[in-house]
Amino acid sequence: MQLTRNSIETARGPSDWFTGAVYIDALAAPSASSRLSANSVHFTPGARTAWHTHPNGQTINVTEGIGRAQRRGGPVEEIRPGDRVFFEPGEEHWHGAAPDRFMTHLAMLDVDEEGNNATWGEHVSDAEYTVAPSSP
Ligand code: MN
Repeated sequence: MQLTRNSIETARGPSDWFTGAVYIDALAAPSASSRLSANSVHFTPGARTAWHTHPNGQTINVTEGIGRAQRRGGPVEEIRPGDRVFFEPGEEHWHGAAPDRFMTHLAMLDVDEEGNNATWGEHVSDAEYTVAPSSP
């Protein structure tokens, strides 16, 4: 058993990987044979990830606010608390807040053999981001 007290500082999402202000609280980190990585990711209005992929896929579960998510070639989807999205391994996608709302999601994935959690691409442009989302 390893108890980690509430002592890990909230991290600012790096600007290479995100547009806008994003804050990350680490929930679980890979160690030994466990590949599980879990974070609570807080997006301020308009903030979003860059385009990226995950080697073993990723599940996000929205806990607060209203957000957006899109896979390459698919519609922009509005996502709300309780909504769960699974991105397939290697599927290019982005996720973030709605333009005028905060959004928090849990992000869960298995890192690969080298400990990598994602491969990052270009930022999501304003033109890509401002497309009207599909209604739930
Ligand atoms: Mn992702």
